[in-house]
Amino acid sequence: SMCSSDTNSSAREIKFEYFDSSKCEKFEDFPICKKTLKGLTSSKFMKPTDIQREAIGLALNGNDILGAAKTGSGKTLAFIIPILEHLYSEKWSQNDGLGALIISPTRELAFQTFEVLKKIGKFHDFSAGLVIGGKPLKEEAGRINRTNIVVCTPGRLLQHMDETTYFNADSLQIVVLDEADRILDMGFSQTMNAIIENLPAERQTLLFSATQTRSVKDLARLSLTDPVFVSVHENA
Ligand code: ADP
Ligand code: MG
Repeated sequence: SMCSSDTNSSAREIKFEYFDSSKCEKFEDFPICKKTLKGLTSSKFMKPTDIQREAIGLALNGNDILGAAKTGSGKTLAFIIPILEHLYSEKWSQNDGLGALIISPTRELAFQTFEVLKKIGKFHDFSAGLVIGGKPLKEEAGRINRTNIVVCTPGRLLQHMDETTYFNADSLQIVVLDEADRILDMGFSQTMNAIIENLPAERQTLLFSATQTRSVKDLARLSLTDPVFVSVHENA
């Protein structure tokens, strides 16, 4: 029952071999499960952009990634698809708690990412939530440990790590640092360092940025393990 457009077990086996995405012209060419593919096609996403083709392929192979591609190149799906696939392949369920974290620079961007996540992930059974403040900390705290995929802002996440006594990131499978250059431009460098210290060592991390500044490379060094660099410059 695992995967892709075929009904036998081959799609699952592909995941444990090295998968080369360079020839993937359509999302259906990737070894992704039916639920994710349905989420994509129902939103009229048929063909990956360049950053998606490269980053999704590498992420499905389990790599940590530093992905650089300019604004508008499609970085959001380049991490939402790997998140859904990672949790699905781990048979993650609502009872398993926090499995994936997406860190966004601003509430507005977190909200936009959450909207895309809801659309693409709607055929999965994962729970998803926003942790961006604007509500009492306690209200968010009750949900955060029970939510499978959390989209958050750095300041609010660290606040939970510091103040929510039962906050627990130990089960995290995959972490995304989105728009890392903006996160750092906004002065969240120390906050990010503190967050990363609170994350379990055994995890997959995907870092995306429109530009590759010195401080992005510093953050990458701190947060990624043997990363693969993906750099794409295209007209989206
Ligand atoms: P970035 O984060 O790199 O700035 P986004 O993920 O926000 O880019 O995507 C930019 C725009 O491109 C969005 O409107 C999105 O819906 C669209 N888009 C993304 N991927 C695809 C795709 N594979 N096919 C068609 N449109 C896409
Ligand atoms: Mg983006």
